[in-house]
Amino acid sequence: MVKDFSKFEQVKSQPENISSINQKLSSEAYRTDSKLVSKNNQQKTVSNAIQDHTEHKTGKWVALTFDDGPSPVYTPKVLAILHKFNIKATFCIIGEEAKRFPYLVKDIVSSGNKLCDHTMTHDERLPSKSDKVIKEEILGDKHVLEQIVPNTPIDYYRAPGGAWSPRVREQAASWGLEPLGWSVDTRDWARPGVTSILNAVKTELRPGGVILMHDGGGNRDQSISALKQIIPNLQKQGYKFDFPG
Ligand SMILES: [Zn+2]
Repeated sequence: MVKDFSKFEQVKSQPENISSINQKLSSEAYRTDSKLVSKNNQQKTVSNAIQDHTEHKTGKWVALTFDDGPSPVYTPKVLAILHKFNIKATFCIIGEEAKRFPYLVKDIVSSGNKLCDHTMTHDERLPSKSDKVIKEEILGDKHVLEQIVPNTPIDYYRAPGGAWSPRVREQAASWGLEPLGWSVDTRDWARPGVTSILNAVKTELRPGGVILMHDGGGNRDQSISALKQIIPNLQKQGYKFDFPG
C-alpha cells in the first residue's frame, strides 16, 4: 500500500491564474469552515464508512477511479478514452497539482466526471498528524477545487496510500466528503506491465467493484494502454459504468 510519491514527476507547464487562487485561499479558506460544514450537513448526511462499491447495488456495475492527478500529460489521455467510450469516472485530485493545472480540473468536471479530494500534498502519514494538518490537507484541497469549479460538489475523500484512521474518516465525513476506497487495486502506479494491470481487473473485479488506477504521480503510459483495453473488455462482459456510492 505504501507508494513512493517522491518520484512524482514535475512536468513543466504554464500554470493558469494560480496567484489569484492562492489569494482567494489565503483570505477565505479557513474563515468559511463552519459555514461550509453546516451547509453540507444540510445538503446530505455523509457516512464515515469507507465506500468501495458502486452507487448501483445490484447488477453488473463498475466504477473507475483515477488518483494523483491532474497531470497535463496523462489526464487529457484518460479523458479522451472515457469520451470515446462515453463513460464517466471519478478523479481523486491533489490540491497542489490542481493549483498548477486548474484547466484540467475544469475539463474533468465539464466532461461529466466526479471529483474526489486526495489532500493537498499526498501525505501518506496523515493519520499521525495533528488536527490542524489534517484540516489543511483535506479541507485545503476541497477549497482549491471549489475555487476552480464553483458549485461543483466534491463528493469523496480518498486517503493517500489508503492510510485511513477513524479520526480522518470522521473529519472527512464532517466536511461532506464520503471516504472512498476501492475493491480492485491494479497497482498501476508501480508500472508492473500492462498484462499485470489487466489481470488485476480480471481476477479481482466483482459486480459493484471500484477500480483504482492513476492518471498522475509519475509515468502512466502503462495505465493508459491498459485502460484502452479494460473498458471494452468490461463492456463486452456486460458491465456498465457508475460512480462510487
Ligand atoms: Zn494517491
